[in-house]
Amino acid sequence: MGPVSAVGGTALDADAARAWVRRFAELVQESAVELTDLDRPIGDSDHGVNLRRGAVAVLAALDGPDAPATAADVLRAAGTTLVSTVGGASGPLYGTALRRVGKALVGVDAAGGPELARALRAGVDAVVRLGGAEVGDATMVDALLPAVEALEREVAAGTALPEAVGAAVRAAQEGAESTDALVARKGRASYLGERSAGHRDPGAVSSVLLLRALADALGGPA
Ligand code: ADP
Ligand code: MG
Repeated sequence: MGPVSAVGGTALDADAARAWVRRFAELVQESAVELTDLDRPIGDSDHGVNLRRGAVAVLAALDGPDAPATAADVLRAAGTTLVSTVGGASGPLYGTALRRVGKALVGVDAAGGPELARALRAGVDAVVRLGGAEVGDATMVDALLPAVEALEREVAAGTALPEAVGAAVRAAQEGAESTDALVARKGRASYLGERSAGHRDPGAVSSVLLLRALADALGGPA
């Protein structure tokens, strides 16, 4: 294998980072009603509304006069925008995650598998630190942590980046599905206690969209 190049699919460069954030915004807008419906029985019916507000703001931030130029700046700008516009629990969590991913990519023109896995690990660790949730608490962590673990595993095994991210998407999806049976221990859904079981966590579902958007941006199998 030759050196990491910026050609689509082999690395996350500034264009791919922009495509990732744009695709996430697009998927969030397409799924806003579904996400809000998931938040109805166990939350306050605003997850899709919250993220849609963030998606619109993020798209504007990418195209503004001070449009970010590097992958690190694109992700930091997206994160900062999400923190200030999404609100709820998910805004600070997603926003901090993307800011941390961006910070980990400072000085990296085109992140290959190892750099991307390290950056995503930093982002997910930040969510865990900030929200205090563990796997099994029925939150976005149930999708995000297995996803980053799958990515790390595939990258260590030498799997090409698009396929490695594809494995992360599948792990996120399985993690989101696992929340169906779980009692929520963090966030609003935890106020319901045992009655929160039997519902899929909306943040875990939107986390799948974040991973799927990355897979789409890298042009890999969804
Ligand atoms: P809010 O709960 O404030 O209305 P949202 O509806 O936008 O905010 O987001 C709810 C989602 O946020 C949940 O489905 C869950 O995945 C995630 N979440 C809430 N609290 C935490 C936490 N402490 N750690 C990780 N994720 C959390
Ligand atoms: Mg809510």
